[in-house]
Amino acid sequence: MSLRATGRSEAISGLSRLTRDCFVAVAPRNDSTTMSCIFCKIISGEIPSYRVYEDETTLAFLDINPTNPGHTLVVPKKHLADIEEADEETLCQLTKIMKKVGLSLKNNLGAPGYNLGVNNGSAAGQLVPHLHFHVIPRAAVDGLKPWPGRQYSSGEAEAVLEKIKL
Ligand code: AMP
Ligand code: ZN
Repeated sequence: MSLRATGRSEAISGLSRLTRDCFVAVAPRNDSTTMSCIFCKIISGEIPSYRVYEDETTLAFLDINPTNPGHTLVVPKKHLADIEEADEETLCQLTKIMKKVGLSLKNNLGAPGYNLGVNNGSAAGQLVPHLHFHVIPRAAVDGLKPWPGRQYSSGEAEAVLEKIKL
């Protein structure tokens, strides 16, 4: 881990000490997180995968435990833990590739639709801490259930909106 000065300079000790907008942590590719990351190992070729698409910044490969055949994961080649660590350019690129993969699932597998999903954070079910988007081909009737919904109680929508409105 190295530190890049972005403003006032100050002696820094330890890995994660950030002085208010003065330094940002820069993780090189052999950072211990990256070395132990299963998706980084897939990206480097250390672990085999079924590669659906690849370019300089992005890799798409088959999920080893598919929800339906053709279930593909789209990942940035740079190790980013989650969506908050990704800049807009990276997200645009990932979205472009998700669209390409989705079209291939439609055109070549005959899937009438597909789900795009990201489990962002362990509370949301993220098991692999390297940002990845699932592209899951769907059939009209394939037995998969949508996530559950419920009605708002009186005043609940207004209260939550007040908290999260941007
Ligand atoms: P998530 O719960 O969103 O973190 O999903 C992680 C996904 O990675 C799961 O759907 C796994 O089946 C998939 N996965 C884990 N290891 C591998 C691997 N070696 N190759 C392909 N997919 C994998
Ligand atoms: Zn990684």
